[in-house]
Amino acid sequence: MIVSWVMLQSESDMSLQLMHEGLATRYNNGGVEKVRFQWVDRDCCAASVVGETRAEEHLSWESWKTTDAIVAEATTRHLVNSCASRSHYNSNITIKLDLSHCMRRFLCECVSEHHPLYSSVAQFLSAAFSVVDQEDLQSLKDAYRFCEIHPPNPTKQHICQHCRIRIPHPQELIKRVEGVFQHFHLASDPNVLPLFKPSMRKVWWIQRVHILRGC
Ligand SMILES: [Zn+2]
Repeated sequence: MIVSWVMLQSESDMSLQLMHEGLATRYNNGGVEKVRFQWVDRDCCAASVVGETRAEEHLSWESWKTTDAIVAEATTRHLVNSCASRSHYNSNITIKLDLSHCMRRFLCECVSEHHPLYSSVAQFLSAAFSVVDQEDLQSLKDAYRFCEIHPPNPTKQHICQHCRIRIPHPQELIKRVEGVFQHFHLASDPNVLPLFKPSMRKVWWIQRVHILRGC
């Protein structure tokens, strides 16, 4: 079952407590196993601190790179936050950051959606966050061979219809997304208008923490 809601008031524990208690009561009364995942647009894990950015620093690729120290800093502390769903509904619930919100945070840091490179970076980021399930792809190729379609190279449309899309493991995902930033961090249009606002680098630092934590 999927429950979806939009809060029109503060998403504080206090405002959500009653709803989660009510949900817990209904699941308990119905003898139904409680859901194990919750997708949110914020507050997916414990608070983290990223360093202050300095002017012009974003022009140096060194400041974008993910080092072993950054990985350790993001992943070795207490990572779970306190939230109403865990306190009042299911203590084992896994909180995940909604992917579309993660993507939107990046795209909001482009100077304009009318920038000539905007659609390219959006496509590259989308591709970085998703991979085709290889077992499904192999089954589809086998089906092509069975139907004697040569060469057995499935079309994009068939892949969309028949293969699941997976989000790569955090270590792989961080490399894929970082690769996109390496390609675009200095990109500009013919009038030398940069694609990214200088603040993109800080947003990358913040989102990188969530990616490394597997949110
Ligand atoms: Zn997180």
